[in-house]
Amino acid sequence: MLLSSEQCPQAHYQVVVIGGGLGGMTVANILASRGQQVLLLEAHDKLGGLATWFHRRSHIFDVALHGFPYGMLKSLRRYWGKSIADLIVPLKNVRFINPQFDLTTSYTREDFGKLLLEHFKIPPQTTHSFFERVMGITADGGPNTNEVPFSAGQLFDEYFPGRPDVVRFLMEPITYANGHTLEDPALTYAIVFANFMRHGIYTIEGGTDLLVSMMQDELIKNKVDIKLNTAVNTIRITPGSNKVCGVEIDGRLINAPIVISNANLLATIHSMVGDTFFRKEFLQKVSAVELNTSSCQVYLGIKDGETIPEVGDLIFYSDAHHFDTELLLNKKISSRTFSLYYPRQRPHSNRSNRYTIVASSNSRYSDWQQLSPAEYRAAKQAMIEDTLQCLERLLPEFVNIRDKIDCCTAATPLTFERYTRHWQGASFGTKYPGLAISQQLSTEIAGLYHCGSVGIIMSGWLGAINYAAITANAVEGRLLLL
Ligand SMILES: Cc1cc2nc3c(=O)[nH]c(=O)nc-3n(C[C@H](O)[C@H](O)[C@H](O)COP(=O)(O)OP(=O)(O)OC[C@H]3O[C@@H](n4cnc5c(N)ncnc54)[C@H](O)[C@@H]3O)c2cc1C
Repeated sequence: MLLSSEQCPQAHYQVVVIGGGLGGMTVANILASRGQQVLLLEAHDKLGGLATWFHRRSHIFDVALHGFPYGMLKSLRRYWGKSIADLIVPLKNVRFINPQFDLTTSYTREDFGKLLLEHFKIPPQTTHSFFERVMGITADGGPNTNEVPFSAGQLFDEYFPGRPDVVRFLMEPITYANGHTLEDPALTYAIVFANFMRHGIYTIEGGTDLLVSMMQDELIKNKVDIKLNTAVNTIRITPGSNKVCGVEIDGRLINAPIVISNANLLATIHSMVGDTFFRKEFLQKVSAVELNTSSCQVYLGIKDGETIPEVGDLIFYSDAHHFDTELLLNKKISSRTFSLYYPRQRPHSNRSNRYTIVASSNSRYSDWQQLSPAEYRAAKQAMIEDTLQCLERLLPEFVNIRDKIDCCTAATPLTFERYTRHWQGASFGTKYPGLAISQQLSTEIAGLYHCGSVGIIMSGWLGAINYAAITANAVEGRLLLL
């Protein structure tokens, strides 16, 4: 049930889940549907985590609903049921606009092959070998190894030497999507890229609010107790042992032999448990785990009655003359992903005639954290103005965009930090080495598990859900033992 602000959770559960992001909700749902008694605690006033939305004036803005691979359909069907999986629809028009090319694609292997031949003049044999290699790396590597000893940049050099335009075409969306760089392992690039290439990019028809409300109903149906507006500050360990015994909320102990954190991995270790409970060797490994970068977004609402033309669902736009991951992170934004939400994407909503545009860019926390309140407000305003100018340049259809907008607002790394408690507002949790640490938590402290974003594969909507399923299986093993 959804506990009201006056209702207290019971004193004892089999499993307490901290955080109701996609990962936390999924692990709670899997375990509850298998008969475990689960309490889900969420600091924010709604479930979803980064998979969220907000209302401003008469608009609904989706925050992290840009696209994910087809695998979501299978995972949602398996862990959430058919009616939720049926919300998944393909995103047909993905567009690149930059000084090197302006192309529209369905973002599938077939279409990429065609564009590589017709636009980039790459021989079909080279394209074929590249795709076979990428699919091969995926098949051999699997998500739990980091053994392929070469970087994405080296992979491209092998197949497309001296072709920065081709590298941009193959790499830029993956960098936008999760901060992956040319120096990162080819394995992680290949897994993400191959996932998209198999069937294209997908989205949720009806928006994030519909998805999360259906998930919440499912959790309640499976008898999960949900308590919102409840931040966990402490995970309690039995004194003199290395076993979890519950969590503390509002000074009260909720007992549980299993605690699963969907919160940021480093926050879980250093803040919620505390370094004194971990071995020095483990903490040394933790110190090598880096956070992923954060994001900035500008949200634009189109006036009631106004329209925008169908110019693409997802536009990867860049002013930069060449692809450079450093430029993608720079506070002086030269590259953005525009997500255009047309009425067809919310057919059942009472606001179904409305259009919104969300511009996203990768961003560094440190660039925003050091600003004074006045500088921060000014920088946000400048980012909104810059985005509008960028839209005006982007396509002739947007020259009068300012006349059509009745709502502009922006988010920065500080916004993401505030609403999700991710350290430094990290959009994709930690980098890849976080996965091993996340999985070792239960050997350090019996009964302690983690299922938040760790690394490129285990993050994003699909990664968060799949990693939650892996965690649920590990927890079941422990419960059987108990
Ligand atoms: C701007 C942006 C765009 C994105 N676009 C895409 C996209 O197009 N496709 C895609 O696949 N992915 C995208 N992502 C990433 C994706 O949204 C996330 O990787 C995924 O939603 C993370 O899910 P999660 O369950 O790991 O954690 P989160 O969503 O971060 O959830 C963690 C939850 O834990 C709660 N919590 C934290 N600390 C506590 C505490 N102490 N007590 C109680 N609760 C706590 C938080 O409030 C939050 O609800 C995007 C992310 C951003 C920021």
